[in-house]
Amino acid sequence: MRDPRHDILFEPLAIGPVTAKNRFYQVPHCNGGGYRDPSAVAAMRGAKSEGGWGVIFTEQTEIHHTSEITPFIELRLWEDQDIPMLARMAGKMKEHGALAGIQLAYSGINGPNLYTREVPRAVSPGPIRTFTNDPVQARALTRDEIRDLRRWFVNAARRAQVAGFDLLCLYGAHGFGIFQHFLSRATNMRDDEYGGSLENRSRFAREVIADIRDAVGDRMGITLRVSLDESIGDLGFSNAELRDFVEMNRDLPDLWDLAHGTWEDCSGPSRFKEEAAQEALVRGIRELSDRPVVGVGRFTSPDVMARMIRSGTLDAIGCARPSIADPFLPRKIEEGRVEDIRECIGCNICITGDMTMSISRCTQNPTFMEEWRKGWHPEIIGARGESDNVLVVGAGPAGLEAARALAERGYDVALAEAGKALGGRVARERRLPGLNAWGRVADYREYQISQKPNVERYLDSRLDAASILEFGFQNICIATGATWRADGVSRQHVVPIPVTGGMPVFTPDDIMDGRRPSGRVVIYDDDHYYMGGVVAELLRSEGHEVTIITPSAYLSDWTVNTLEQHTIHRRLAGMGVGIVLNRGVTAIGAGHVLSNCTYTDQIAQYDCDAVVIVGSRLENRQVYDDLKAREADWADAGIRSVRLIGDAEAPGPIAWATYAGHRYARELDTAGIGDALPFRREVTGLADAGPFGF
Ligand code: ADP
Ligand code: SF4
Repeated sequence: MRDPRHDILFEPLAIGPVTAKNRFYQVPHCNGGGYRDPSAVAAMRGAKSEGGWGVIFTEQTEIHHTSEITPFIELRLWEDQDIPMLARMAGKMKEHGALAGIQLAYSGINGPNLYTREVPRAVSPGPIRTFTNDPVQARALTRDEIRDLRRWFVNAARRAQVAGFDLLCLYGAHGFGIFQHFLSRATNMRDDEYGGSLENRSRFAREVIADIRDAVGDRMGITLRVSLDESIGDLGFSNAELRDFVEMNRDLPDLWDLAHGTWEDCSGPSRFKEEAAQEALVRGIRELSDRPVVGVGRFTSPDVMARMIRSGTLDAIGCARPSIADPFLPRKIEEGRVEDIRECIGCNICITGDMTMSISRCTQNPTFMEEWRKGWHPEIIGARGESDNVLVVGAGPAGLEAARALAERGYDVALAEAGKALGGRVARERRLPGLNAWGRVADYREYQISQKPNVERYLDSRLDAASILEFGFQNICIATGATWRADGVSRQHVVPIPVTGGMPVFTPDDIMDGRRPSGRVVIYDDDHYYMGGVVAELLRSEGHEVTIITPSAYLSDWTVNTLEQHTIHRRLAGMGVGIVLNRGVTAIGAGHVLSNCTYTDQIAQYDCDAVVIVGSRLENRQVYDDLKAREADWADAGIRSVRLIGDAEAPGPIAWATYAGHRYARELDTAGIGDALPFRREVTGLADAGPFGF
């Protein structure tokens, strides 16, 4: 049973008129599904309820059509029509005893209203602040409209209550949410009673909370999510000013929910942020108020969580990503199964689902957002089908996850790995700067597999088709990964870059294998995710003169989706890495590369002694192709199926590989579905035609 040191995490917590059964508090988080996939989101929250969370929140919910953040897909509570969708959500949250919370948002200066076409209204006028710099400005709310807005919050609170929610979270952190916009002098330039002094800037929060308390405060707990520090100098809402605000309004909400000033700071990836990174900003705030405090910090360690409560820093442990990676985290702590926790690795792939308006995935938890779509439970998997055994070739994220889940289903599994360690790419990438936590992908699975009597592991075992045909396994899963290309073929070049003059050319695999260039290095990044920047950081820290050239307008372009693009650029620029944007590499010659401007094609020469090409990867599919070529021998060898999965099928981020491994294990020995869609989908119900019959 559970370790007594963790008992404190299971004490109930009163939040206004309602009580949470424990201190595990899933703070609001996006999921890329929102109003488009409401049943998928509801089921995802339901899994967390089963997993033991005391409090579960929705993502941000737009309270009124005059402020919305299209194209991002969150939730909407604009009218009564929206209630049933949210009622389903609340119902799922409460199924196993959690309090159901809803985050109410009015986006103000962040809402371009691309869908509703309403003129955006903000605390003060100015250009809308979005990731895409939409060419739209907001006008200031009039005092009458502030009164309207107070009423709209009350309307939303009432609707939320009808939908069955127990808790409200008023959003004013991460730079998003009108409460922060009122509080911060960077967004509040008003000269009426809502601007100027901190007391005036707090007025809106005080009024809204008083209004909501009158309407539903006897039944619903009211929480205020405020920014810990906007970190933008004197003008912004600083940590010192937040402390003044809390002290001045000691009993304002039923709970203070503290989160960093910008989303990038709050949800920074593990590459740049440790667990409990916000501790110093939070410490001491609890003493300024009589109300409980929740804070976040990518908490995955129960000891750290218990310390946060015991030390009086926090009353509840706020988690978004840790609850995504392991919806059963509280239950595992309660049952004393700490080593079974699937720890978040801090890669922020989950956030990319929101940023790309697709649907979120999680590197560690392949079932995330598939609970309803595919009926995948995070902890339960069906018993094995009619065959008995599987040979998994390759122990990277795909092979490891396949082996783990297959063993869970009851198959006898042999896992053969050519290298001397399990983990594949993560065993190597975890040694790169800032990526250590990514090793948890391998650690979790290695431990789980070690606990299963039906998995045999074979290291140092590079298999070929002939040996596989001899072994006599019924199912063969080829997860042999991919290799970085040295020829520059990627997006800019569809044929190899010419190399002359004996210039040494390296790939990320060479670097991870310990080979090093000497002298000045040019890194050519046509991959655009993290690898180019990480290799630059490594080589620069080892003393090389490093220039990174990329055809994109941004360094590590795609990492804007993982909220780290700014930090990567700042880190590399600060280290003295030369950053050349909007340029490609057209030829590699003796002592230099030739680089073209992506707009004008003008050529410039960059002198160097070595080149590292971070382009694309080539599938390691030889074993699979050889086996396919001998398909006629399969029956005699007892082989029923051969599948290629993960990077060996098509290279992608690690999350794609764990998903592929999991999917393979789920689908083995299940009936084919022909041309049918492999997941459930929610289709919008059609309304009546409009006045002209359209
Ligand atoms: P993925 O991300 O798809 O899991 P990785 O590249 O991380 O792919 O892992 C693939 C693993 O497969 C590597 O550890 C590699 O050593 C191993 N491997 C590649 N070819 C063979 C082979 N023929 N036999 C056994 N293991 C192999
Ligand atoms: Fe954590 Fe990455 Fe999963 Fe997000 S995707 S919850 S950061 S492991």
